[in-house]
Amino acid sequence: MNPSEFAYQRAGSVEEAIALLQEHGDGAKLIAGGHSLLPILKLRLAEPDMLVDIGRIPELRGVQRTDAEIAIGALTTHHEIATDGQIQSALPLLSDAAARVGDRQVRNRGTIGGALAHADAAADYPAAILALDAAIVARGPRGERRIPAREFFLDFLTTALQPEEVLTEVRISLPPEGHGWSYQKLANQASGYAIVGVGTVIVLHDQGAVADVRVGVTGAAAVAWRAEATETALQGQRLQNDVIAAAADLVDGGIDYLDDLHGSAEYRRRVTRGLTRRAIVEAAGRARQG
Ligand SMILES: Cc1cc2nc3c(=O)[nH]c(=O)nc-3n(C[C@H](O)[C@H](O)[C@H](O)COP(=O)(O)OP(=O)(O)OC[C@H]3O[C@@H](n4cnc5c(N)ncnc54)[C@H](O)[C@@H]3O)c2cc1C
Repeated sequence: MNPSEFAYQRAGSVEEAIALLQEHGDGAKLIAGGHSLLPILKLRLAEPDMLVDIGRIPELRGVQRTDAEIAIGALTTHHEIATDGQIQSALPLLSDAAARVGDRQVRNRGTIGGALAHADAAADYPAAILALDAAIVARGPRGERRIPAREFFLDFLTTALQPEEVLTEVRISLPPEGHGWSYQKLANQASGYAIVGVGTVIVLHDQGAVADVRVGVTGAAAVAWRAEATETALQGQRLQNDVIAAAADLVDGGIDYLDDLHGSAEYRRRVTRGLTRRAIVEAAGRARQG
């Protein structure tokens, strides 16, 4: 099917994009890489009157590192995140998740801003973004705000972004050197999307007990989540098999699993628990004590 008719305007700056969103209201949609929006337009699941192209705004590009954090521009592609040396060394969880998005074409065109704003239930980034406790920066008519990752994903294809806001960057505090990490994913073999994806960051004390741990889960439910009960069960513990298994079984407290042609709710529940176990074991194996 072809999309319904729409007008098109390229924004030269974030301010111009915001002004266009204000001017056209509900009828306007931003477009970045187009890899989630165009399929939706073709299926006529969205019929905007105006596409505002933000794909060439220079200030939305690039990766900047300070001593405390890394800022990743919204237009940074999955390929750039997978291959950027600064991200690979400081945030290997994020670069690994990016490397496993879709296929080469998708990774070359798709952007982190578009992926987060779209909030597909099966997207890879949410697991990593949650486990890294990132902040999503949005700019709108009333200025700029930082949205913690755990407050960003609200429901299926729904985020905390307001209609007139542009997601400008993702900011991630640098985890300590020597932290352990893992991204475990059961991928849909046709698209690459996550049927289940689990991202984990672990920091160990010098005696080997867990000083800090974060677990983010995507794909399994309508919205990605932080597995707080699992984290609490691991905090301060030495990571023996029985501790890990018991903590992984707490991963889904209160979650309604998706039940669709890619997997039943019971299948997703088992896979989520299994991948959580694997992610903790792999992250612990990579973590340096102290
Ligand atoms: C065949 C195929 C396979 C895929 N496989 C995977 C996969 O394995 N894992 C995965 O995670 N994803 C996958 N994707 C999705 C892919 O990652 C997309 O690139 C991504 O979801 C959207 O990024 P985009 O830049 O293309 O956004 P667009 O399609 O341009 O936009 C998507 C939505 O976000 C909004 N938007 C875009 N940028 C901004 C911004 N800066 N601020 C506010 N709103 C914004 C748009 O208005 C639109 O609603 C796949 C896509 C395809 C086509």
